[in-house]
Amino acid sequence: MDLGIIGAGVSGLSVAKMLAGRFDLEILEKAPQIGGIARVKMVNGVPYHLVGGHCFNSKNSRVVEFVDQILPKSEMHCIKRNARIAFKGHKVGYPLEFSIREIASFDAELAQRITEDFFRASPTETSNLADWFRCRFGNALAEEYLIPYNRKIWGMEPSEMDPSWVEGKLPIPNKRQFFQALFKSGDDAMVHSTFYYPNSNTQNRLLEALADGTSIHTAEGVERLERIGGEWVVNGQRRYQRIISTMPLDLLPKVVAGVPQEILDLAGLLRWNRISNALWETEETDETWTYHPDPGTIFHRHIHIGRFMAPERNYSITESLGARTAELMESEGKKFPLLKTMIDHNVSERAYVVYDQNYKKAVSGIKAWMQSVDLIPLGRFGEWEYYNMDACMESAFRVADGLNAH
Ligand SMILES: Cc1cc2nc3c(=O)[nH]c(=O)nc-3n(C[C@H](O)[C@H](O)[C@H](O)COP(=O)(O)OP(=O)(O)OC[C@H]3O[C@@H](n4cnc5c(N)ncnc54)[C@H](O)[C@@H]3O)c2cc1C
Repeated sequence: MDLGIIGAGVSGLSVAKMLAGRFDLEILEKAPQIGGIARVKMVNGVPYHLVGGHCFNSKNSRVVEFVDQILPKSEMHCIKRNARIAFKGHKVGYPLEFSIREIASFDAELAQRITEDFFRASPTETSNLADWFRCRFGNALAEEYLIPYNRKIWGMEPSEMDPSWVEGKLPIPNKRQFFQALFKSGDDAMVHSTFYYPNSNTQNRLLEALADGTSIHTAEGVERLERIGGEWVVNGQRRYQRIISTMPLDLLPKVVAGVPQEILDLAGLLRWNRISNALWETEETDETWTYHPDPGTIFHRHIHIGRFMAPERNYSITESLGARTAELMESEGKKFPLLKTMIDHNVSERAYVVYDQNYKKAVSGIKAWMQSVDLIPLGRFGEWEYYNMDACMESAFRVADGLNAH
């Protein structure tokens, strides 16, 4: 067969869809079902996103068109973003740098400091994420919000993190945009103001539409990859001319026969985080997400998943870094009057790749080796990138374009 794709998450499904027709291909997926970390478990008719709360949007017209062809806009509904940040005992708009007027209403001194420091900041080369925040956003915003929030969501000191990954991923307002936001409240153009969710009220609909027509072998994990006679032989059985891998970059070398020890050592350097999620029945809220930078709660975000549904319902997902027991999540929830009853709980496998000071060396070394043996990396963990679904699709286009060009 021309092409074997490892993993039926958004990345594997997308690249298969893009290459179908041109190549004879199939997907091997170790889980009993497709979807990877975007998979939804339905609970009481509510889409419980076991990892996160996957909504779709993209600023890339090719990706928008791709999704439109697979799941037309008539099968999706559009939701207006209303993200708020619980900041110093008040709720302010997201992103915080556009909510200085709101901060001034309860702490004028802090609002003034954030503003002065923002205008004083000037981008310079930095070797860690904490300094990167300071020189892009100013000291006050960095110290009061960005550093504590990032410490919480990464589980490590931003001063020990590599800053290079964040460039281009986190939108930074220029001084004019910041200034204008001081005089008006409301939306900014930097983040998506709307997003899409399937009318069927489950993101599995998008996953199934992506998978439609593709040959997928579920419950068939790739445990051994061998190069024999110019082909890749998987598990001693299936043979492919080329392989695209969306399986985690730290695990792939372990299944390839004859991999050099130095590549296994690099793989051993890669770090990742799991997250714990709980699904709650709640009081009514008009927010879509609430962010919690406060170290006083283990939750870093509430995803008001009921607001993604049409008609809306009163359900939220609380998210916390690391492996948290159901008992701890439930007792923590009591701090929030919005949360009424916890009805499900999950601890993920890989949710976030960690950008420590080793990651660049490890990722570039493993990818160079993959290229030398003709294995194609793709996806959030396959490339070790902070990708959303749309970025996975963008990357799938890059891979598909490369293969189509041959
Ligand atoms: C908390 C959180 C919230 C998020 N929210 C959003 C959001 O709102 N919007 C958005 O667009 N994106 C969101 N994302 C990102 C999104 O989930 C990912 O970009 C996307 O789902 C990644 O898809 P993937 O196919 O690259 O990886 P995965 O989903 O990890 O898929 C990889 C697949 O490979 C399989 N696999 C692994 N090893 C093997 C093996 N040895 N053999 C065979 N198969 C194997 C796995 O079982 C899996 O199915 C969020 C992510 C997180 C963690």
